[in-house]
Amino acid sequence: MHKYVNHINGRDVPAADGRTFTAFNPTTGGPWGTFALAGAEDVDQAVTAASNAFRGGPWSALSPTRRGRLLMQWGEMIAEHAERIAAIETEQNGKLVAEMRAQARTVRDWLYYFGGLADKIEGAVIPLDRRTIFNYTLREPLGVVGVITPWNSPTFIAVMSLAPALAAGNTIVLKPSEITSASAIELARLAEESGIPPGVINIVTGFRETGEALVDHAKVAKVSFTGSVNAGKAIAARAGARLVSCMLELGGKSPNIVFADANLDQAEAGVLAGIFAAAGQTCVAGSRAYIQQPIYDRLLERLVSRAKQITIGDPLLAETQMGPVATKMQLEKDESMVKRAVDEGGAILTGGARPKLAAFPDGYFFEPTIVHQAAKDGFLMRNEVFGPVLAVTPFSDEAEALALANDTEFGLAAGVWTRDINRAHKMARALESGTVWINTYRALTFNSPFGGYKSSGIGRQNGIEAVHQYLQTKSVWVELGDEVQDPFIMKV
Ligand code: NAD
Repeated sequence: MHKYVNHINGRDVPAADGRTFTAFNPTTGGPWGTFALAGAEDVDQAVTAASNAFRGGPWSALSPTRRGRLLMQWGEMIAEHAERIAAIETEQNGKLVAEMRAQARTVRDWLYYFGGLADKIEGAVIPLDRRTIFNYTLREPLGVVGVITPWNSPTFIAVMSLAPALAAGNTIVLKPSEITSASAIELARLAEESGIPPGVINIVTGFRETGEALVDHAKVAKVSFTGSVNAGKAIAARAGARLVSCMLELGGKSPNIVFADANLDQAEAGVLAGIFAAAGQTCVAGSRAYIQQPIYDRLLERLVSRAKQITIGDPLLAETQMGPVATKMQLEKDESMVKRAVDEGGAILTGGARPKLAAFPDGYFFEPTIVHQAAKDGFLMRNEVFGPVLAVTPFSDEAEALALANDTEFGLAAGVWTRDINRAHKMARALESGTVWINTYRALTFNSPFGGYKSSGIGRQNGIEAVHQYLQTKSVWVELGDEVQDPFIMKV
């Protein structure tokens, strides 16, 4: 059993009241490790440490260039430890170790990009009508940013959220998911080994209540949240009560639209990757496939046949293509949503059950599942599964595809597969989502904005826009002349 505690001001600190909780390994179903169950007192300690590191503290004392360099060094350090971090994540969330390794390596690029932006945050000189006044703006950090993250890509999402806030000069208290808390603590330790001062990144572990205490803390100036829509709404309401703004990256029910003129090999791979990579546990999962009628049966047959061939098993092995889902609750949700889709008239074309794996009888495994003709207004079409469940529906023309795709409260991502360039761009404009992929799926990088339309979120990760969310603008007025501005002396 592994043992982790909070990481505050550069030190490992148990919960003030000594409480702990246990996290499980989804592959075996057995316990993996214990963590501190942080309460309001622990959150207060962490926020105080972050506040001290900010206001008059070591992070604010560094030049922006130096802060940027430290972020880059942190990126190098994480990449060096990618193998170890990946193994920890896979043991905690069951995702393929290859994916977790790639994520732990790629965050270096994020930290170089945002580290490079740290000394490019500029104010402006405003050309006022009154020539004797010099007016300029300062772009200043907010203070302590409270960050709450999910379990599906723990290191990746943590770094994606922290890097722009740190580059802007803020300090952090991070509450990782209770399912995958270990890597966040490892990241904070590596940050300090890289020279980032203690107190700049603090970690408190626990469940919803710990997150709530963080959102409620008077010294938290901004909240960055990645997770489900319901939690996002609750967090935004709490933060709103204190007039604190939120960056929200939430869930999705993303459409993947395949036109008859598409390159079918490409589309087949894209639809499969969209839903079965990571066992469907990605916010951008292409969980609704709309396929144009002339190719519907043909493509469906190919998708079903490929889904059946996916190798399910130990996510630590290189040959495994799909691991377990992360929790027992998620497994039960996958099952119940498929059952409900069938009750509502859908047909299971493949999957829909727990595979029998001799080596892992208690693991949380679910078969790659394709449901055909799920009811348009049924539960499966309206709600995120966050598991390997694809709903497929035929469509006749562009207008119908658009109407179906946009008929959702979500707006995170959409895929379009076509060789017709005019149609591709028309669709890109008309789709109500923060990301549109044409003839590709799941592409993402540090300098292209990522975020949701509609209920899928507020704000953007990645790109320069991400940094602006963690800054506030001060307008400075300087009288350059000797004129006396006395309000009680009337000029004639
Ligand atoms: P979740 O919303 O259950 O939990 C996310 C985090 O919030 C956890 O740390 C949890 O402890 C905390 N939390 C939950 N309710 C809270 C509350 N009321 N107040 C404060 N903290 C609270 O999500 P999850 O199951 O960990 O992750 C899956 C969800 O995350 C999916 O909906 C997925 O689409 C979404 N997600 C979105 C993105 C994105 O970039 N848009 C990326 C990854 C995952």
